[in-house]
Amino acid sequence: MKANYINGRFVAGSAGRPNINPSNTDDVIGLYAQADEAETRDAIAAATEAFPAWACGSLQARADMLDRIGSEILARKDELGLLLSREEGKTLPEGIGEAARAGQIFKFFAGEVLRLRGDHLGSVRPGIEVDVTREPAGVVGIITPWNFPIAIPAWKIAPALAYGNTVVFKPAELVPGSAWALAEIISRAGLPAGVFNLVMGPGRAVGQTLIDDQRVRAITFTGSGVTGRRVLLGSMERLAKVQLEMGGKNPLVVLDDADLEVAVTAAVQGAFYSTGQRCTASSRFIVQKGIYPRFVDAVATRLAALRVGDALRPDTDIGPVVDAGQLAQDLDYIAKGRAEGARLLCGGDELRRDTPGFYLSPAFFVDAHNDMAIAREEIFGPVACAIPVASYEEALAMANDTEFGLSAGICTTSLKHATHFKRHVQAGMVMVNVATAGVDYHVPFGGRKGSSLGSREQGSYAAEFFTTVKTAYTAA
Ligand code: ADP
Repeated sequence: MKANYINGRFVAGSAGRPNINPSNTDDVIGLYAQADEAETRDAIAAATEAFPAWACGSLQARADMLDRIGSEILARKDELGLLLSREEGKTLPEGIGEAARAGQIFKFFAGEVLRLRGDHLGSVRPGIEVDVTREPAGVVGIITPWNFPIAIPAWKIAPALAYGNTVVFKPAELVPGSAWALAEIISRAGLPAGVFNLVMGPGRAVGQTLIDDQRVRAITFTGSGVTGRRVLLGSMERLAKVQLEMGGKNPLVVLDDADLEVAVTAAVQGAFYSTGQRCTASSRFIVQKGIYPRFVDAVATRLAALRVGDALRPDTDIGPVVDAGQLAQDLDYIAKGRAEGARLLCGGDELRRDTPGFYLSPAFFVDAHNDMAIAREEIFGPVACAIPVASYEEALAMANDTEFGLSAGICTTSLKHATHFKRHVQAGMVMVNVATAGVDYHVPFGGRKGSSLGSREQGSYAAEFFTTVKTAYTAA
């Protein structure tokens, strides 16, 4: 059994949970320890104890450790990517790409260790000078979802450590393999005991303990809106810092003057790759009437050519849905879309393959309305809908008519409309002539409205969450 990592030691614990391959449910990847509340508190105690020395330790040593972690991940990206694809179901190139990205994130934050800046100002009072510095937030609780099993942990753990925090990391139940592999690499990087801890287990035990424990000074969470609100209420109650990344219902606007090829590629990649299981996936295509028939036909043609199958097969374009519960939810939304009067142009069928898995053909609805459930609620599967509109103005208004605001895209050759859209769409990230999903690691990631709360993740903007500011006055 793969053990939890607490206070510098792997601790087996009593219960274990099997990690199942969604491409082949007969394939059990391994058994992973499940921490309880007491073990979670042990991890928090270890992180609390380790914090003062780590916060004031050598920056060079810290940078070197993060760099070593990044180098090992990059050197082993094929193997880590294979494990990731096997447990989560995204295709092998996607899995390897994600593993590589995790390595790059650690390398980036190794550099950031030495780039944390402060300010030195004069005072309004003569003879006094002012220093503004950033200090680590303290013990950070990290709660992650299953859809990016190594990249999301990396983009939370790397900055947390880089800026001098200690960490208790709780991965999603469905993908302990990548989390454990990452923890194992971190365990050999030379961090003092207690600086980094891994506690695998259920959200209601491990996650809730992190939220409720006064010693955890900051919680960074990515997952569903329902759990996000729970995290928020719990941390608010005890005034802990909180950062939430939740869902999206991301629009892709396609104007009459768009390059059709560019628009179809952005739509198909953005909505259906990684089985549509990305919070940045575009699930609403808002399409101007002049290009609508050609766009809809071309998307359907492209979808017909995609091969849905075992994530590890080289000829697979779209892997399986992550588990039975998610598949049931996807099918439920497909039924709802039909019942509400959208036309299912293609896909939406459960598929049989050589191995038992959760296979679903990409579902493409047309002639939908923005008030349908399939256009309003996050499905988190390979399901998208096209909605016709008359004008750019109508498209923009519809793009903004959502409770979410993570990512938004537009395909157009008009500089005027692209510029206007970038300025006026209510989203944290805007994409022009490129898919809504797929982001860089050195620039901020995050949304607004119902998608995100708190400061941005990634890039140097991550310092905002993982540090707290101190203002010092000195009379000379
Ligand atoms: P999804 O499963 O769609 O990714 P969830 O919000 O259910 O979204 O899960 C995201 C993460 O939150 C997971 O690691 C999960 O275990 C954790 N989680 C679930 N319930 C709670 C809770 N009550 N408190 C803290 N964390 C939780």
